Amino acid sequence: MYDYLVVGSGLYGSVFAREATNKGYKVLVIDKRNHIGGNIYTEKVEGINFHKYGAHIFHTNIKEVWDYLNQFCTFNRFTNSPVANYKGELYSLPFNMYTFNKMWGVVTPQEAMAKIEEQKGEIKGEPQNLEEQAISLVGRDIYEKLIKGYTEKQWGRDCKDLPSFIIKRLPVRFTFDNNYFNALYQGIPIGGYTKMIENILDGIEVILGQDYLKDREKWNSMAKKIVYTGPIDAFYDYKFGALEYRSVRFENEVLDIPNFQGNAAVNYTDRETPWTRIIEHKWFEFGNDEQGNPLPKTIISREYSSEWKLGDEPYYPVNDNKNGALFLKYKELSQQEKNVIFGGRLGEYKYYDMDATVASVLDKCKEVFE
Ligand code: UDP
Repeated sequence: MYDYLVVGSGLYGSVFAREATNKGYKVLVIDKRNHIGGNIYTEKVEGINFHKYGAHIFHTNIKEVWDYLNQFCTFNRFTNSPVANYKGELYSLPFNMYTFNKMWGVVTPQEAMAKIEEQKGEIKGEPQNLEEQAISLVGRDIYEKLIKGYTEKQWGRDCKDLPSFIIKRLPVRFTFDNNYFNALYQGIPIGGYTKMIENILDGIEVILGQDYLKDREKWNSMAKKIVYTGPIDAFYDYKFGALEYRSVRFENEVLDIPNFQGNAAVNYTDRETPWTRIIEHKWFEFGNDEQGNPLPKTIISREYSSEWKLGDEPYYPVNDNKNGALFLKYKELSQQEKNVIFGGRLGEYKYYDMDATVASVLDKCKEVFE
């Protein structure tokens, strides 16, 4: 008999399993995929750690989380500074002095601010939607070239029909700082995320290719408590209906050249290019293998944003009122469970960054083990 059956070997499940094991509990981890790591899984392709379920760049301001993961991996010095490609014109992201210089030829912060001030005049009063919010942050030129097309592809909706908060997380800087994240700590685990998860799960029993929901009687009879990190609506057989997600489709290509775009991420911000961005995975590790030798080939992923339907991989929870209300109904049910803990992005229907996932599971562990 196990003390805990952990369903899902992603970041949440793995950290929970580690902490429970350290406390002396007997733990079994199962996963329906044939690999560990959930969506942060990386696999080696042509010597490159390929982020199979989308690019993951670890960043945090939480020292406890940073120190925690550093027990299991060493992070490299990768800093995310994406480039925007608008019909062949390249711009630096997030919006900073390099962007403003390229857009308007302005040289000083004062000139850039004056340009934005002049352009945002068209928005009177509180911004009512993403379009108005964007124009009042950076002006119409940047909105048209770097925001409108990308956002409409990403969300499948008109910028006038999207909430303004989505764009507020993008920094606007009047300095030459093109570090995308305002984070104290940032990097990619050397050797890949899969290696980090392997280290977290070291010595813990894991069975892959097992779908908990297909045989829950059997699994429930094997453990006193369940930690469930799958979709909460699936746990309840979608009895109130399915929660919605945005999904992403990847078109991956190995190219027989050493350098395709010279950067890990290039966003295609026009409307006509069907993909939202291209990730070139080798640049997360500076184009080298673990011995520091340059890699001869490259692997790229074109990302296409799509509306999710049942059976697709869920990626981004849709945080609108309809889905929020539906989630609450499932949450009420889940709170009545005595022996099941729901956790992680799918279990809590929350758009967690990786650091928030770790913070949340460590909090949960404190609650249940102390
Ligand atoms: N965004 C944009 N142009 C870009 C990058 C981002 O207009 O080149 C907008 C877009 O609306 C996006 C939002 O900024 O949804 C937040 O971007 P972020 O990169 O934080 O999104 P993530 O993919 O991390 O959720």
